[in-house]
Amino acid sequence: MTLHTQVAIVGGGLAGLSAARLLHRAGVSVLVLEARDRIGGRIQTVDEQGRPASDGFDLGASWVWPEAQPALAALVAELGLALMPQHGEGDVVFHRMSREAPQRFRRAGDAPADPSMRVVGGTGALVAALARDLPEGCVRLGARVTAMTLGEDGVRFAVEHPDGTAEAVTADRVIAALPPRLLEATVTFSPALDEATARRWRDTPTWMAPHAKFFAVYDRPFWREAGLSGTAQSLVGPLVEIHDATTASGQAALLGFLGVGAGSRAAMGEAALTEACLGQLERLFGEAAGHPRAAWIADWATEPLTTTARDLGDGGHPAPAPGPWVEGPWAARLTLAGSETSPTDPGYVNGAIEAAQRAADALGIKG
Ligand SMILES: Cc1cc2nc3c(=O)[nH]c(=O)nc-3n(C[C@H](O)[C@H](O)[C@H](O)COP(=O)(O)OP(=O)(O)OC[C@H]3O[C@@H](n4cnc5c(N)ncnc54)[C@H](O)[C@@H]3O)c2cc1C
Repeated sequence: MTLHTQVAIVGGGLAGLSAARLLHRAGVSVLVLEARDRIGGRIQTVDEQGRPASDGFDLGASWVWPEAQPALAALVAELGLALMPQHGEGDVVFHRMSREAPQRFRRAGDAPADPSMRVVGGTGALVAALARDLPEGCVRLGARVTAMTLGEDGVRFAVEHPDGTAEAVTADRVIAALPPRLLEATVTFSPALDEATARRWRDTPTWMAPHAKFFAVYDRPFWREAGLSGTAQSLVGPLVEIHDATTASGQAALLGFLGVGAGSRAAMGEAALTEACLGQLERLFGEAAGHPRAAWIADWATEPLTTTARDLGDGGHPAPAPGPWVEGPWAARLTLAGSETSPTDPGYVNGAIEAAQRAADALGIKG
């Protein structure tokens, strides 16, 4: 049996869910096809056991800047969510070279506060709130789109489930809410995409795809007690930038971005890398930092539903660029909505919200 919907959305990340909510509210029948067994994509909030959490640690996106991001600010308010400032009170640590001790710097009293904000509960609260507004059965998990075929009346999808079974879905229109580079690399189009469209998608880096975050969870935020903010920068790896990741309810944690490339991370292995990260935290924040309650690495380079081989060699930030994302035969039926397609804030959480709004607008539907 073939399932039919007015609009099929490929990808249940922030962009896909935002678009689905707008369309549903406008009375359009919509089906979200999500390949993973969870919603959120590059947004994932977990507890220290790695389980989905309503007050947890953000493995993917964690910061937003509502003053400069009106779409994000409006959605947060509409969903009744709260923001909290990134903790920045206290001294900053800088480690310049291995033969020198890390140095501690006092933030000048009149220095502007860090404008970065976090979603109370974690960015997962955003996607959870969006999903709550969708009708039952609207989001299909474990539904990987492998091919799209353009017909006279719409688009036919080949959908694969984790158990190897296949399903056919048809739709009048498609919103592809995933990184353009991933779409080009993993979904087959019949007829083929025109070359300009394929090249543009391929050449658009997926923001943060090759990166990894390290988390260490503690019983207490001991660094705060020592007058440290938890912010550190280091030229003495493996972590390059560290921040306080304590949750709204007070679960104490530090997070760091790994400066070691994906290939070296794989070669080193998680255990050795974790040990090196803990040694570094101990040098920066004192002995207690070497003994967390839990520690792990979230490596997005190993996520095939985010990262392609090309992202490992050609990462970076997608540049905002005007012009159509779809040309040729597919232009009438297919609209892109992944964050990378936002003309103003590509790659960011805010960009995903904007891109979804634009995609809904392109279908003649206003939020
Ligand atoms: C480590 C990291 C840190 C980040 N930090 C920040 C930050 O602090 N602030 C910020 O603004 N942004 C940050 N970002 C970026 C932010 O997460 C993204 O901009 C945003 O989440 C993108 O949402 P999206 O819906 O466009 O794409 P995605 O979240 O990538 O969603 C795409 C979805 O499509 C699904 N999918 C893929 N292929 C298929 C297929 N064939 N069939 C069906 N489904 C498919 C995926 O499983 C996924 O759920 C960070 C990202 C990472 C990885």
